[in-house]
Amino acid sequence: MPTNIEQLIEIVAREVKSYQTPVVDLIAVQTKDPFKVLVATILSARTKDEVTAKASERLFTVAPDRQSLGLLSEDAISKLIYPVGFYKAKAGYLNRLPEALTAFGGEVPDAIDDLVTLPGVGRKTANLVRSVAFAKPAICVDTHVHRIMNIWGYVETKTPLETEMTLREQLPDRYWLTINSILVAFGQGTCKPVSPHCDICPVEHLCPKLGVKPRKIAPKKRTSGRTLISWNVNGIRAMEKKGFVDLVRDLSPDIFAIQETKAHPEQLSNELLNIPGYNSFWAAAMRKGYSGVAVYSKEKPRQVISGIGLPAFDQEGRVLTLEYEDFFLINAYFPNAQHGLLRIDFKLEFNHALHRFANTLAQQKSVVLCGDFNVAHKAIDLKNPKENEENPGYSLPERQWMDEFTSAGYIDTFREFNQEPEQYTWWSYRVNARQRNIGWRIDYFCVDPSSRKRVKDARILAEVMGSDHCPVTLLFA
Ligand code: SF4
Repeated sequence: MPTNIEQLIEIVAREVKSYQTPVVDLIAVQTKDPFKVLVATILSARTKDEVTAKASERLFTVAPDRQSLGLLSEDAISKLIYPVGFYKAKAGYLNRLPEALTAFGGEVPDAIDDLVTLPGVGRKTANLVRSVAFAKPAICVDTHVHRIMNIWGYVETKTPLETEMTLREQLPDRYWLTINSILVAFGQGTCKPVSPHCDICPVEHLCPKLGVKPRKIAPKKRTSGRTLISWNVNGIRAMEKKGFVDLVRDLSPDIFAIQETKAHPEQLSNELLNIPGYNSFWAAAMRKGYSGVAVYSKEKPRQVISGIGLPAFDQEGRVLTLEYEDFFLINAYFPNAQHGLLRIDFKLEFNHALHRFANTLAQQKSVVLCGDFNVAHKAIDLKNPKENEENPGYSLPERQWMDEFTSAGYIDTFREFNQEPEQYTWWSYRVNARQRNIGWRIDYFCVDPSSRKRVKDARILAEVMGSDHCPVTLLFA
């Protein structure tokens, strides 16, 4: 099948429109300044966009032009741009850049042959600067453009340079300026270098997938309900490095609720915020690096409610509620009562307030309440109940609240299906607790009293690693 390049690019361009704009394009649009585009492009090599954006901002605050950059020492530049990839080498390039630009009257040149004479500027950077800063014909071929063009069979080349030369001959002019932005976003989000997501790719029907090994997807079981997952990830930024995005795609639940994100959305990567096929919603604590919850949802909810209307709890980013046509999902991260039960009063107030909140919503439709409740309800729910009777997470007042909650009719869905001991969702990082299964069951999916019939299955996914908790799941009809 001959490659229909126009159709492929048009579809992919539409697909990546919702993705974040690459940082270099953003700086070009915001500043219209070739100097800043050149510097940001040098910084962006082998560096995530969000890191490049912050480093550029710090550097441009002190050195917005060639003259002021010339006044900075290499060491000062290095400190300003850290932690971009190869920051020491890049500090050296930027330190030499003002002098090198004098050969062009102090201005950034727009010709490829001139640009490549500047320190730290190779063909890729030169093409990007020419196209983004000057809107002049250039094809910036990086690893994504080279790779995807070969996968599509539009070129048959060994190196990015060969690809650039071939594209110059055969790619219609109108795509030259934009092809890099489009395929970089697509290569980072869908057509990844390892295990591309052909299963959700919008050009799957057109792509010959040359040399590609698509990821294995477990066949989706036919079910008559939504699959929900809840997981205390203990820091979403650390979890991203352990493969969170791929895990979401592989498990592919309808709703994925997470707790203890420990991050504000602006600290997160585009890959994390925009997992293809999902909408994401975040509630962060005022205090940075603390608490926080989020929900990924395939279906767009009718409304999203952050908090429960009580500032003392809401400023800790503990509750996020999504309303769907036929139920509310409440995702909650309950406070820890803390060593010596120092925070037990705060925790119990939160528990009672959340119970009231759930009751109010349950008057309208079904309520699913999930999250890290930070309490093991009964002796069967932890390895060493006797030793922990006075400890946070199993103290009498905490258990009594859980008694009260379930006596009011709320259903601990896991125990509807499994009455076995040693079924845990949290293990201390100490004493090899997970290997020895010395754990606690403190993560739950509960439903309101009227929704028992809608609960079709509930499980613990103990095999999923990465956090000190494991995920729990609910099949809800
Ligand atoms: S079908 Fe697969 S290989 Fe082809 S473009 Fe899409 S993700 Fe890439």
